[in-house]
Amino acid sequence: MNKKLALLDIISEATCYEKIRELKWGDKIHCLNCGGQDIRKNGHDNGISYKQRYICKDCNKTFTDISDTVMASNHVPIKKWIVCWLLKDHISNKELAKVLELDTDIVSDMRGELSEGILKVNYLKNWEW
Ligand SMILES: [Zn+2]
Repeated sequence: MNKKLALLDIISEATCYEKIRELKWGDKIHCLNCGGQDIRKNGHDNGISYKQRYICKDCNKTFTDISDTVMASNHVPIKKWIVCWLLKDHISNKELAKVLELDTDIVSDMRGELSEGILKVNYLKNWEW
């Protein structure tokens, strides 16, 4: 018997998006470009149902739940960012890299970006286990 339970196996990307949506917008989505509140749903990123796209009827810009964060511009799954956020103050980069199944260098960069607050992910502070 050589099976192990990995944290990432029991967390779904879809649930993370759902939770981010809930924490970030509450019940009113606003445009990340102009602040407008006349927002319509506008399909999905890469056709993936939990990656909702929106369009602002005021300025016509489109955006997603994460497009104002560094999470949008790299290939690390959102759930790894969330787990990194939750564990970053508790374990070393090396341990975190193992949990996240990423290189230590990448984890170190992610932790730095989360700490610098350039992610605009302050709403993650409301995340509860
Ligand atoms: Zn707008």
